[in-house]
Formats: sequence, C-alpha cells, structure tokens
Amino acid sequence: MTNNKLLTLFIVNNYKDFLNEGQTIWYYMNMTAQEKESLYNLLKTVSSAIDGYTSVNFKNENPSFSDDIAISQQSVSSQQTVSNQTSAPSQTSSASFDISSKINSCTRCPLSKTTSAKAPGYGVSNPFVYVLLDSPNDEPMINELLTKMLSAISLSPKSNCYISTVVKCTTPNNREPNGEELAACLSFVDAEISMLKPKIIIAMGKVAAQTLLRTNLKITELRGEFTEYDKIPLMPTFHPKTLIVGPQFKGDAWADLKLVKAKLLELVPFYENTFKN
Ligand code: SF4
Repeated sequence: MTNNKLLTLFIVNNYKDFLNEGQTIWYYMNMTAQEKESLYNLLKTVSSAIDGYTSVNFKNENPSFSDDIAISQQSVSSQQTVSNQTSAPSQTSSASFDISSKINSCTRCPLSKTTSAKAPGYGVSNPFVYVLLDSPNDEPMINELLTKMLSAISLSPKSNCYISTVVKCTTPNNREPNGEELAACLSFVDAEISMLKPKIIIAMGKVAAQTLLRTNLKITELRGEFTEYDKIPLMPTFHPKTLIVGPQFKGDAWADLKLVKAKLLELVPFYENTFKN
C-alpha cells in the first residue's frame, strides 16, 4: 500500500470522530506533497497530545509523499457550450481536452450543421459513476431534477460523477437523436468511458440505454437490474424528462437509484464521503 493510501486510511480510521471524512479525502486528493507532509506532522502532534505518547503509526521516519495533481485534475468541458448545467471544478485533463476539442470540431453527422451547442460532458476526471443521457439540453427543470436524483444517492459532477450524452450536439427542437447520429457519436462515449474508468454507468432514458445495450426493448423492460457495458455494471433507468411528464415512474426510478447506491457502496464503501454538491 502506498504512503498516500496509508495516510488517508489513518486519517479516516483515527480521526473520523472530529474530521469531516468527505472533506478530508477530497482535499487530500488535491494536495501537494508538501501539504501532505504538513498534515502528517500536524496529525502526529495531535495524536501524541491525545494519546500521551507517539503512536506506532508515527514511529518510523516520515513517509515520502507525492503530489496528487495528476489524479485529481477535474475535467470541465461543456460549461462554455451548454447553459444551466451544474458547474464543475475548473481544471481540465489533457485527455479530456483532446476529446473535447475533437467533439467541438466534429462534422461526422448532420447534427453538426444544426446544433446550437456542443456538450462533451462534465464532471470529475476520476468519477465513480458515469451518467449518460440522450442529447444535451438546457432546460432548467430537467437539469434541476437530474441534480436532485443524483444528490439523493450522494452523487454530483462537482465531486464524484461525470454526466454526458449519447450525442454531443443538440438536436432540432430537442428531438430524439436518430440511428445515424447515435452511431456516429458512440465512439466519443466509448472514449469518455475508457478515459474516465467509472465503477458504474447509469443510462438515463430509452435512447441511452438502448444505444449502449444495442436493443430495442423499452426502458420499462430494461430498468431495474444491472447489466454490463464494457464489463462495467450498467443500470438503465428513466430520463428526468420522463419523470416530469410521467410522475408515476418516480417510484421505479428511485428503486433503480437505490440499487446503484447499494452497488456503489459494495465497490467503493467510502463513496458517500466524497459527495460535495
Ligand atoms: Fe459529431 Fe456527435 Fe455532433 Fe454528430 S452529434 S456532429 S458525431 S459530435
């Protein structure tokens, strides 16, 4: 185990009564080696003061720490192109920048001629969950409900998830993207998943679920149980737009989100502590 992980575990295990674990981990993942060393020395002093002796955890020489910049860089791609989306941290990884620039210059399908905005996706660069919707939109009601749904299971693009769409261009009158458009854009979705390596994918809505699962089954038939995409657990569920016009589906959507939460707790037991809205 690396010294970085050891220090995180030490903080969580020994100071969880009076440190905010989520904040600690979040800040820790964005710390320089010098900051970590300062924190380590502070904890050593606090530990000695509390216990009355130097804990075995601190008896050896100070570990050597490394900067977390590489793993903590956050990606933001779409804020400049789609309004009313949740803002996200400000750093952009080079891989994310590369995908974003390819999307911004893409003319692979006819949507490039009609789009009012291109949205390469937004969120953190090391997300636990990749959320896929149909096409970009700037409808406040949909984005508000999406935020509420994700917050209900301690997910946010500001801290631990990434939100994207099956097609990266807006569609005329917000219509569903067609097969040609979906096929043309799927490689960008694959590139994002490959870069982000999420633990779980949530496909929100018929278009996202059918595209990833290559099926024509209805979302009501697909939702409710995990399947896989590229060996990553995938939960199909309702698009927020469907829940606005069909509130009778809210119970099923909530059941799906609870399954996601349970699976995520299995895979990343501390994930809720990373939540920051
Ligand atoms: Fe390119 Fe995707 Fe936009 Fe089509 S929808 S032009 S494939 S970025």
